[in-house]
Amino acid sequence: MMNNKVVLITGATNGIGRVAALELAKMGARVVIVGRSREKTEAVRQEIQAAGGSADSLLADLSALDEIRRLAAEFRARYDRLDVLLNNAGAIFARRQTTADGFEMTFALNHLSYFLLTNLLLDVLKASAPARIINVSSDAHRSAQMNFDDLQHEKSYGMGGFQAYGRSKLANVLFTYELARRLAGTGVTANALHPGFVATGFGRNMPGLMNRVMGIMHRFALTPEQGAQTLIYLASSPEVEGMTGKYFDKNRPVRSSPASYDEAAQKRLWDISEWLTGLQPASV
Ligand code: NDP
Repeated sequence: MMNNKVVLITGATNGIGRVAALELAKMGARVVIVGRSREKTEAVRQEIQAAGGSADSLLADLSALDEIRRLAAEFRARYDRLDVLLNNAGAIFARRQTTADGFEMTFALNHLSYFLLTNLLLDVLKASAPARIINVSSDAHRSAQMNFDDLQHEKSYGMGGFQAYGRSKLANVLFTYELARRLAGTGVTANALHPGFVATGFGRNMPGLMNRVMGIMHRFALTPEQGAQTLIYLASSPEVEGMTGKYFDKNRPVRSSPASYDEAAQKRLWDISEWLTGLQPASV
């Protein structure tokens, strides 16, 4: 079903990204895994090959714009097609941190990396159509509202990182809907998803009590194998061929939050992201 399809997956060294990479490779895809640690990335590559799959790897710290640009250039040098782009790498940070570019870490890693990598690979995706872009969001977006006056969370970094995380995941949905509109008629689809609450490495970087709470909650969570199902479905199922601009949960399109359908916010976020990532040097 996925024979010879090229699938690029970020955050493939752990959690649901690792399982999706493994399963899609078993279906015959040529999987390109992106990780920031050479050792972990190589270990997953070998695991996929041991399972009889085809995997290549690229290294990038996705919180840094320069590394995303290098990653896109390396991908383009090695591959002449891209059938599925799976933006998955993401995290929550208990305390506000800034990236090499001076951006707030959650916003940069969870949103700007999806935005920039996608835009830098759009022409390859269009040339490979039908092609799919899949953005891993979260139901944590449901309680969030964008605050365009404080996108970098300088004024407030509330709820131990959960506010910044929820907004970044709302940004994933806003980005997906605007992207789908811009891609209409190209044969490239764009969808977002919630993987469920999954026992992965997610949240395990939180300090003290939060880490322990996360450990306890993980006893009631999905396994990474279960949590990867909607990623695998959206990447491979013929049922979603041509479907675009949707938010999926458990392999079904569902309504996302009212705030995510705000077209003005979708456009505003796109314009600001273009400017912040240097794709559009002047405007805004
Ligand atoms: P994990 O922490 O297990 O995996 C996250 C992946 O992202 C890892 O491969 C990690 O690499 C990578 N990553 C983190 N920071 C960077 C960086 N700076 N540069 C490159 N790669 C990086 O979490 P999950 O598998 O749970 O998370 C995957 C996605 O699912 C995220 O977008 C998350 O928001 C979303 N999600 C998860 C939920 C859950 O319950 N787990 C619920 C809803 C959404 P490394 O191995 O080097 O740390």
